[in-house]
Amino acid sequence: MSKKDIYESPDYYLADELLSEEHKLIRASVRDWVKKEVSPIIEDYAQRAEFPKHLIKGLGEIGAFGPTIPVEYGGAGLDYMAYGIIMQEIERGDSGIRSTASVQGSLVMYPIYAYGSEEQKQKYLPKLATGELMGCFGLTEPDQGSDPGGMTTNFKDAGDHYVLNGAKMWISNSPFADIAIVWAKNEAGKIHGLIVERGMEGFTTPETHNKWSLRASSTGELVFDNVKIPKENLLPNVSGLKGPLGCLNQARYGIAWGALGAAMDCYDTALRYSKERKQFGKAIGGFQLQQKKLAEMITEITKGQLLVWRLGTLKNENRATPAQISMSKRNSVETALNIARDARQMLGGMGITGEYPIMRHMMNLESVVTYEGTHDIHLLITGMDVTGLEAFK
Ligand SMILES: Cc1cc2nc3c(=O)[nH]c(=O)nc-3n(C[C@H](O)[C@H](O)[C@H](O)COP(=O)(O)OP(=O)(O)OC[C@H]3O[C@@H](n4cnc5c(N)ncnc54)[C@H](O)[C@@H]3O)c2cc1C
Repeated sequence: MSKKDIYESPDYYLADELLSEEHKLIRASVRDWVKKEVSPIIEDYAQRAEFPKHLIKGLGEIGAFGPTIPVEYGGAGLDYMAYGIIMQEIERGDSGIRSTASVQGSLVMYPIYAYGSEEQKQKYLPKLATGELMGCFGLTEPDQGSDPGGMTTNFKDAGDHYVLNGAKMWISNSPFADIAIVWAKNEAGKIHGLIVERGMEGFTTPETHNKWSLRASSTGELVFDNVKIPKENLLPNVSGLKGPLGCLNQARYGIAWGALGAAMDCYDTALRYSKERKQFGKAIGGFQLQQKKLAEMITEITKGQLLVWRLGTLKNENRATPAQISMSKRNSVETALNIARDARQMLGGMGITGEYPIMRHMMNLESVVTYEGTHDIHLLITGMDVTGLEAFK
């Protein structure tokens, strides 16, 4: 199926005026790329539950891998506003493609950049930036999801190398990744990050099948059976849960922008459809009930746009707190899910088909509301932040 993508982004409060010319240029180029490369093929890949691997090179070329990583390491050296805009445009196309970009930039390149040795940065970052090397991030385990501190994946010092054992589950990109950033405990119970490379003996990456969500994204496990890890593959500059949580902060920030992209695509589709589809002798957009849905959608999108813009400003100033990022991630995903559900109804029967992107966005967002901290966990983070009282345990 090949369709013309005529998406136009809503900007009810003239929020574009808050962006620089460079930001707008970046947005235009990523939007063009998504319209040309993603929109025409994504439905087919989602239906077939296949990741469109041929998009990797283009994602590298538009700067989607590690936009904020300095140019000397192959990154684009952009600010966080640009990073958010790129994620928004890609997720407007599909959350699965955005997931691949988020994992590569925020969960693989960021930890190497922030916690890695100079040798590790030189060896991996430039190739990850172009997509010549692809990475994945292993934190979640079969028995440890929201509570990663209880992980059992572990490594032992065996003299000139480490020996890694355990398993990770729900790992985006694992079936094709060349390297994995794996979080595991040492003999003292301290969490560290290790760079595990495909081909190491005892390391396998079985694919997870039968997903109804993020079907155009490849998900799998990471299984470690006495894997010998060279000592130089340990990330030297971080230990404890703050390592993986620092990466998640980066990725959650991108999702806060990204999920609004999916919301805007659903709104744009429903608005256009409501003016074209006639029932009872007039366009359905002329009925109050449909206008209520559209009016609420654009209100929530506008609030979300202003929230992420402010978050981007704080992030550029290095002042965005993890709790502020949680609030924005949670708000954007909830907004997008609600809009996708209402937009789908507005399209009637057509809303359940792949002729329109809404149902795919809606199913994708069911993963986005769960990964990178569930909806409930982010609410608990906000609750803890405002009360000073922890309600997790
Ligand atoms: C498609 C997909 C891709 C993913 N990609 C990755 C990846 O690349 N790398 C990676 O490491 N992980 C990844 N994940 C895993 C994801 O981060 C976890 O699914 C998520 O953290 C939740 O963990 P869980 O599924 O084990 O749910 P659980 O933690 O078992 O939670 C189940 C339910 O209990 C609730 N809950 C848990 N604790 C509390 C509490 N204290 N109070 C109240 N309610 C609570 C949760 O909110 C949730 O509703 C991915 C997941 C999916 C679905």
